[in-house]
Order: sequence, then structure tokens, then C-alpha cells
Amino acid sequence: MSFRPFQEQSECVERGTMKTFAATPIQKLKLDLNNNHFYVKRDDLFPISFGGNKARKAILFFEAIRQGSFDSVVTYGSESSNHCRVIANLAASYGIPCHIVTPDGSTKRTVNRKMVEWFGARIVQCPVSDVASIIDKVIEELKSEGFKPYFIEGGGHGNIGTQAYVEAYNEIRNYERETGTYFKYIFHASGTGTTQAGLICGKTLHGDKKEIVGISIARKQPRGGTVILESVNCYLRELGYEEISDDVVTFVDDFVLNGYGTYNDQIIHTIKNILFFEGIPSDPTYTGKAFWGMIEYIKKMEIVNQNILFIHTGGTPLFFDAMEEITNG
Ligand SMILES: *Cc1c(COP(=O)(O)O)cnc(C)c1O
Repeated sequence: MSFRPFQEQSECVERGTMKTFAATPIQKLKLDLNNNHFYVKRDDLFPISFGGNKARKAILFFEAIRQGSFDSVVTYGSESSNHCRVIANLAASYGIPCHIVTPDGSTKRTVNRKMVEWFGARIVQCPVSDVASIIDKVIEELKSEGFKPYFIEGGGHGNIGTQAYVEAYNEIRNYERETGTYFKYIFHASGTGTTQAGLICGKTLHGDKKEIVGISIARKQPRGGTVILESVNCYLRELGYEEISDDVVTFVDDFVLNGYGTYNDQIIHTIKNILFFEGIPSDPTYTGKAFWGMIEYIKKMEIVNQNILFIHTGGTPLFFDAMEEITNG
């Protein structure tokens, strides 16, 4: 698996080896809390397949696919996930078959699910306990048919996914240098932890002092934080840097409620507010939940007079799934 080492965004544009995109916008909010200044990095506007962190990760995976002349892709995750939608979309755009191993579960016809099917991905459904063996089986079958399959972990986990958010971190640094606005805190929705790992690696490589706060949308501690630290050190090892210890990982599990996909009235209220007053859509599973968690965390920790950046990690199709509840809220 090829893996592009850390570098400044401007260098990879100059090298011209891959399709690169302009930095996603950073937008100041009207939100007023404890005299803090709030900004949102609009990764939901990343220009591929409805944007988001899965799109930012996926373009790097597909660059590895192109460089390695792979001719098919295998991944896993829920058919309703942002990850599977983006991978199925990019596979369609590269003209290669996409195989998605998906655990038995909800059959709700979400917007992402409809798109995954529309893109023509082959869905292989199985009990969650069989996922690993079914992935192996699908890969072996493809090889025996003469294909050269490329495997992407669920959620775009792994060093390539981490690299995507080292690059996002560099975009944030460039913004700071250009505008003179420095962020003391970066908040975002944390799931598998790859996004957070990338941000922490970016910060570590530059020796910066920021606080990166992942608001967990499902996982509890200590597992959530441990997985992030493993991802960080896996990336740093590959680059030949020293490993770091867990005091740099701030993974907040106070706002997971009853786990993945659960939400409360305050989250719906938050989603409505940031849409009405700032014009920014969010959803109850990821960004709306994390934004609510950020507000509560800032109140609880009595954070005042700071520049605070929230990374909008996407998931726009989930907004439409939740439309009815949001409009009634
Ligand atoms: C997957 C996802 C996340 C979590 O990202 P990880 O890298 O898995 O932590 C956050 N927000 C959205 C919208 C996502 O789809």
C-alpha cells in the first residue's frame, strides 16, 4: 500500500502527482458564548460526493488505487454510512467495481443507502461476527477471477485516512498564518478516531500548542482514546518519528447519550439554531451532536475569550434523513 508522507499542501500541488483541491473555507459564526469567537471549517463543502471527512480520506485511497493499478475496491460499513456512499461514488467515477461488506442491521431506506445502490455497488450482507471472514472471502474470490482488489477499512481508517487530516491541519495552519487568527481549540465529531488522529499528528509534527477536542458520537473511554493513540503512533512510526503518550488525546465521551445515532431535544434545537442563524446544515448523528457537545463542554470547562474552530466533518445526506424530526423540533 503506498502512503504519501507528511508534507505541506503547497508542495503536493507543485508536485502535481495527484488531483488536489483548494482548502475548504473557514467561516466565522455569529454565535456568542463566554466571549469566545467561533469559526467553522466547512469540510462538508469538500468538493466530492457531498463532501465530508470520508470524501477527504477517500480521494487519497483512490490515489493509491490509481498508483498501484488496482482494478476493484472492497470495503465495509453500513450501507447507510457516509463512508460507503463516498467509496461507491468514487469507484463509479473511476469505473471500477465496488464491493461493500455490510453487517446485518437497519434496512431503513436512507439517502446514503439509495445512493450506494444507485452507484451500482455490490452489497454483501452478513452477521456482524462474520464480517472479517467475509471480507477475506470477497477479496479471494476477486483475485481468483483475475482482479487486483484494493481493500479500504471501514470509515477510511488507517495511515492514509490519518494523512487526510494532517493535510486538513495544514490548511488550518495556513489560514492562521494568512489571517493572524490563531485557534486555541479545535473541536470535531470523533467516531473511529482517524480524523482526530490526523489532527493530532499535524499538531505534533509542527510542535503546536492547540487543544484538539474530539466529541465522541458513540465510543466510550478508554477504548475511544486508545484507538486514537494507536492510530497516531502508527502514523508517526511510519514516518520515523518518536511515539507520543496519551496526554495529547482529548476524547470526550460525555455526550454519546445511548450510543451511535441517539440524540435528544437539545441536539435538534442546536441543529435548528445553526441552520437558522448561520445557514449551516448539520445532522443528529455526527455534527449536530458534536456541536451541542462542544457548547456544553465550553460551558462546563468555563472556556472564555478564545478563538475556537469547529470542523464540520460532513454527513449532509443525514440532514435530509432527519428533516422531519428537525422541522418538528
Ligand atoms: C465518519 C464521520 C465522523 C467521524 O470520523 P472518524 O474519522 O471516524 O472519527 C464525523 N463526522 C461525520 C459526518 C462522519 O461521517
